[in-house]
Amino acid sequence: MDGKHSHIDIPKAFYSFSTGALFDRCLECEMYLLDGDTEYFIEKAIKKYEGFDAQDVIFEYAICIQCAERMRNSMSKASQQSIQQYFMDNVDLLKRMEIMQSNPNNPETWMDKCLIKGERKSGLNEYQIYAHCNGSKLNLTQMPYLVSGAALEEISAVLSPETLDEFDDFSRRHFGPPPELAEPLPFRRVMLI
Ligand SMILES: [Zn+2]
Repeated sequence: MDGKHSHIDIPKAFYSFSTGALFDRCLECEMYLLDGDTEYFIEKAIKKYEGFDAQDVIFEYAICIQCAERMRNSMSKASQQSIQQYFMDNVDLLKRMEIMQSNPNNPETWMDKCLIKGERKSGLNEYQIYAHCNGSKLNLTQMPYLVSGAALEEISAVLSPETLDEFDDFSRRHFGPPPELAEPLPFRRVMLI
């Protein structure tokens, strides 16, 4: 650990919904993740149903930093630049810094609102949350954050068809076909990590 950034225990929000425990393997290469300061990311997609308390975890996984980088590099240059540009244009960095600095050890508050649109989590039907971890600790350098379904749709719209195909292949390979056949569009994984 670098000592410069604080680490805290991984909060329950990032435990695996299906096992109730910490993620311990990379989805892609199955590397063990909970040793020492092994670096990896967690992503979860959540859907809520209007009028119900229940929520569904649409997908969830952990991915080691090597696999995440390999996948990012396989994305077209144009898509990589589009994502960067989208974040530069849409994330209020000052506001973000303020939230992080005034709640240094309470990352739940960093996920109260969409990183991009600022909408409250309680008002969102779909969102994804992202965490950066070292072993059993949460790395608090930039993550965790929450991105609303609406923002993810906007990001999808700036990506090349090839990139979207790659994302969809990834989802099919690991999570199978979308469970809700009635939905016009499968809930798409948008790779931000
Ligand atoms: Zn891996």
